[in-house]
Amino acid sequence: MPELPEVEVLSLQLSKRIGGLRIAEVLVRRESSLTGARQGFEETLPSKRINRILRRGKFLCLELEDGALLWFHLGMTGQLLWIPRPTAYVPHVHLVVRFEETEMELVFRDPRRFGKICLTKEPAGSFPEGVRPWGPDPYEMSDEGFLKIFRGRKGRIKNLLLNQTLMAGLGNIYADESLFRAGIDPRRRAYRLNSTKLIRLHQAICETLTEAIEKGGSSIDDFLHANGGRGFFQNFHRVYGREGEKCFSCGDLVHRIRLAGRSAHFCPQCQR
Ligand SMILES: [Zn+2]
Repeated sequence: MPELPEVEVLSLQLSKRIGGLRIAEVLVRRESSLTGARQGFEETLPSKRINRILRRGKFLCLELEDGALLWFHLGMTGQLLWIPRPTAYVPHVHLVVRFEETEMELVFRDPRRFGKICLTKEPAGSFPEGVRPWGPDPYEMSDEGFLKIFRGRKGRIKNLLLNQTLMAGLGNIYADESLFRAGIDPRRRAYRLNSTKLIRLHQAICETLTEAIEKGGSSIDDFLHANGGRGFFQNFHRVYGREGEKCFSCGDLVHRIRLAGRSAHFCPQCQR
C-alpha cells in the first residue's frame, strides 16, 4: 500500500506536469470509486485551473483555483498516471481528467479498487469525506511534539505508529523499517520507552522517509510513478519483506510475526 513517500513522490511529479493547467473534461468510468455522485465531479471540475498539488498524510490532493479539493487515496493498488491519449485501452481506469493545454491525460487506475476519490469544496484545512481527522506528518513535528504524542501510551509502539489520528503517513513498510533503525522491538509498549529512545525513533522515521522519497518510494504491489516508472527503495528495505533472510547488521534471521492483524518484520537481536 502506498505510504507517505510514495504519495510524496507522486505529488512532486504531478506538480511539475499539471500544476497551473486548466481542466477541460472529467470522465467517470467507475462511479463506486467516488465518494459522492458522478455529476458533482463531471460538472464541478471542468474549466477550473489547478492551483497546486498537495500531499496530506497518505492522500494526494489537487487544489483548484476556487479552493475546492480533489482527493485521491491510492488504497492498495491505486495509480495516478500521466499518459497520452487515447487512454481508453488502459484497464481498471476509474477516472480520467483531460486538460485544455495538452493531449496528456491524468488517469486514476486501481485494479483492486480499494482506492477512493473525493471532492470537497472547503479550503485546505479540511478532510475528505468519511475520513477521521489525522495527526501531523512526522516532518511537521519536533522531537518534543513527538514525545507529547507517544510518551506514556499503553499501546504497542508499532500499532501506535500506524494510527493515522496520532501521526499521518506511516504504513506497514515504513513503520517496520523505522523501528529497525531505532533498534526498537515492534511489540514494545510505548510507556516502556524512555525519551531518548523515542527521540531516536522520531529521527529514524524522518531519515527513513527522506531516503525513501529520494529513491522514488517503494514499488511493491502496483505502485508506479506518474510516468509509469518504478521506485527502488524496496531494494534498500532492511527488514520489511525479508523474513528468513539474514539481518544486515548482526547476521541473525529477520522474523515476521502477526501484530494486531498486520505483519511485523524485525530482528530480535537488533531490536529490543
Ligand atoms: Zn540484527
